[in-house]
Amino acid sequence: MSSFHIPYGRQNITDEDIKAVNEVLQGDFLTQGPKIAELEKAFAAYTGSRYAVAVSNGTAALHLCAMALDYNESSRVITSPITFAASANCVRYCGGEVWFADIDPDTYTLSVEATRHLLASKPAGFFSGIIPVDFAGLPVDLEAFRKLADEYGCSIIEDACHAPGGSFINSAGKSVSCGNGDYAELAIFSFHPVKHIAAGEGGMITTNDESLYRKLLVLRTHGITKDENLLIDNHGGWYYEMQELGYNYRITDFQAALALSQLDRADEGIRRRREIAARYDEAFKNSNIVTPYVPETAHHAWHLYVIQVADRKGLYDHLRSKGIFAQVHYIPVHTMPYYRNLGYKKGDYPIAEAYYERCLSLPMFPTLTTEEQGFVIQEVLAFQNAG
Ligand SMILES: *Cc1c(COP(=O)(O)O)cnc(C)c1O
Repeated sequence: MSSFHIPYGRQNITDEDIKAVNEVLQGDFLTQGPKIAELEKAFAAYTGSRYAVAVSNGTAALHLCAMALDYNESSRVITSPITFAASANCVRYCGGEVWFADIDPDTYTLSVEATRHLLASKPAGFFSGIIPVDFAGLPVDLEAFRKLADEYGCSIIEDACHAPGGSFINSAGKSVSCGNGDYAELAIFSFHPVKHIAAGEGGMITTNDESLYRKLLVLRTHGITKDENLLIDNHGGWYYEMQELGYNYRITDFQAALALSQLDRADEGIRRRREIAARYDEAFKNSNIVTPYVPETAHHAWHLYVIQVADRKGLYDHLRSKGIFAQVHYIPVHTMPYYRNLGYKKGDYPIAEAYYERCLSLPMFPTLTTEEQGFVIQEVLAFQNAG
């Protein structure tokens, strides 16, 4: 019997985090207070974007982005089948059609070539948008997606939930941070506890576009504005107007304080994640395990460390029996019953489906100890060498 209990991801809450939350709890504002703007300013600086809008979770962030881009019943938007369902669902919230394109067999991210092929297969104006995902923390080549989007009249929402702190080198040799707004109209992040920055629940949208930014602020709070310059009538100091149908997608001030405190340690967390990835790479390099491919131009944020093996279920069950809770990211979205009912079927995206048969995410989080990782490596190799 082993005494380990090792999840694939785990948040890390420090005394400073608790102090930061306590200060808010003892202050005047539980929500709609100053911590939210403070977090937005710090997050915009972290990603290098002009604007940031904090929201209640990453899914709300996606929904608001889809609304801000006016996706509607006649919109068709392309995303990856290997992502969390929310990346696709946001298009459905607005009544639009989700289209998938297959993944790249090396990077596991939405294939630029498959996307180009799909765009070219339809008349001009057929598609409205592309939602590439920085899967596992590996930044997609947004420069290439931007070229495609411009050619075909599409907008881009970068789903960067896995990749705060990630970046890639563009064709001009410049480092482009995930969510910095150089190539995508909008980018989104999640502060769910398994992600880099934990706030319990929470999310963020970044953009360089002032008009999208203004729209997001209004949509986040019921479509209500108090801005005197925008009001149609004005009855006095109390007056506000609900000018369109928005939501309550606000984050609270104590969640913002927690996220802000975590953001202070974000770079440290990525450094540790890189060390963990390097040790896995080294341990598995002479085995029958496929380790993650990282292009030379990418600075990986390492949300996940995904391996591919022949007997994935066998390895998963073996690790579980040892107290190691590996996970699968993801069951292809188009094979979910909801999307099957919309006409998708198994066989539609063979590279994504072949990947799904073999993938497994090993424990990857900054507080994973050297001893714990050693145990994970030992058990992975024990199973692979026995098989
Ligand atoms: C976590 C995640 C989301 C959704 O974020 P929530 O905060 O859980 O709503 C969306 N897309 C991807 C790729 C994610 O990993």
